[in-house]
Amino acid sequence: MGVQVFKFGGASVRNADGFRNVGRIIQQNGDKPLLVVISAMGKTTNALEQVVNAFYKNTGSWSELFEIVKKSHTDLFLELVPGANSLPEEIVQILQATEARLKMRSLEEYDLIYDQVVSAGELLSSRILAYYLHALGVDAEWIDIRDIILTDSTYRDARIMWQETKVHTEQHVKPLLEQRKIIVTQGFIGKNADGYTTTLGREGSDYTAAILSYCLDAESMHIWKDVPGVLTGDPRIFEEVTLLPRLSYNEAIEMTYYGAKVIHPKTIKPLQNKQIPLYVRPFDEPSSHGTVISAERELSYPPVIVIESNQSLLHISTNDFSFVAEHHLSSIFALLAQCRLKVNMMRNTAISFSVCVNNVPERIAKFEKELGTEFKLIADNDLELITILHYNDVVYSEMKKDKLVLQEEKYADMVQIVARNIPKMKRRDIS
Ligand code: ADP
Ligand code: ASP
Ligand code: MG
Repeated sequence: MGVQVFKFGGASVRNADGFRNVGRIIQQNGDKPLLVVISAMGKTTNALEQVVNAFYKNTGSWSELFEIVKKSHTDLFLELVPGANSLPEEIVQILQATEARLKMRSLEEYDLIYDQVVSAGELLSSRILAYYLHALGVDAEWIDIRDIILTDSTYRDARIMWQETKVHTEQHVKPLLEQRKIIVTQGFIGKNADGYTTTLGREGSDYTAAILSYCLDAESMHIWKDVPGVLTGDPRIFEEVTLLPRLSYNEAIEMTYYGAKVIHPKTIKPLQNKQIPLYVRPFDEPSSHGTVISAERELSYPPVIVIESNQSLLHISTNDFSFVAEHHLSSIFALLAQCRLKVNMMRNTAISFSVCVNNVPERIAKFEKELGTEFKLIADNDLELITILHYNDVVYSEMKKDKLVLQEEKYADMVQIVARNIPKMKRRDIS
């Protein structure tokens, strides 16, 4: 059928002009069956996270914070949709259901409440986009992706039930595409077997688009970004970056696995399995193809730098000063998995085992507690994991400048460094 799957992230729909631009891109691509996956507007997910925290952890007035979200969406809708003077019923319902959920003051676990509330962002933005497209005369159909993507109950990091999701896609999504409807749906969210909303992890809308591309055997997937495509480094950090016009799936997997924020790390694998090309394209220059990620192998690359901040290096040793032996490692790994700590790098010596993980304080605290009295844990925080793919000596030395290196690994074509920035005062002290 030659379906195209488009994903628009928060940056592309941060205001009314953003929606207008998205509308133009959709109109220009209506010649093939099109499925559009959209994220929450701008920083809405962060704003909703604050609402949940205010509610659950008493960090402020959740209702005042929720009013801000309500107002920004209402103002945008009224500005965007010609002739509208109030919100349509479907949008009012999303706001009311979210508020009602919070007013229940139920004592369910934080992660469950989080998913029920934060998912409102994508429900709202997708409804707004569908209304706007109708106003433009585009035959778009809004669908609730929670009727399609079924997940387990790991709230905030749900895993996909592929079999069920595939069947739902074939039964409910394919026929609409065959009727040449443009489908508008939400990224980031799904539903579990108990009927609760789940989320796929922050920035998970890219992954949603890949799941649907996989289930539809899409011809191509396109994610529309505020950058020209995949670059040799994050332009928010580095001045001199260049566009990578072509990348292999494996290269993209490495980059995103180690923290390149341009694509969600789970996105590439489903596409690779079906050999579906992924285009990372600039929404402010829609005619550009940006970067194409495909099965091509014979590509050569310049050095590519990926920086993952907020890392913690955990040094684990035994309290009885015995060696850290295989049976210790086995229980340490079981605990890391149980506490959902992502291992980015590791090293073991005779008397200690060090592991670099994303610093999620409550997970590390749980891990430390579960380690019990047999082990001692010392954590180094505020670190960066710097990964240089295809490194050369110049880039390698440049990246180590002004850094205190705590751990380093070199492979054939990649170097990884766990380091702390040396504060400026200290540098002067040393000289
Ligand atoms: P959205 O949520 O709108 O889809 P994101 O903000 O999640 O978009 O992703 C785009 C951002 O990713 C860019 O603004 C850029 O700062 C960042 N980024 C990090 N690494 C890279 C890279 N290697 N190439 C391009 N952009 C990158
Ligand atoms: N809105 C969600 C987030 O900000 C998902 C996404 O944008 O991909 O994390
Ligand atoms: Mg994003």
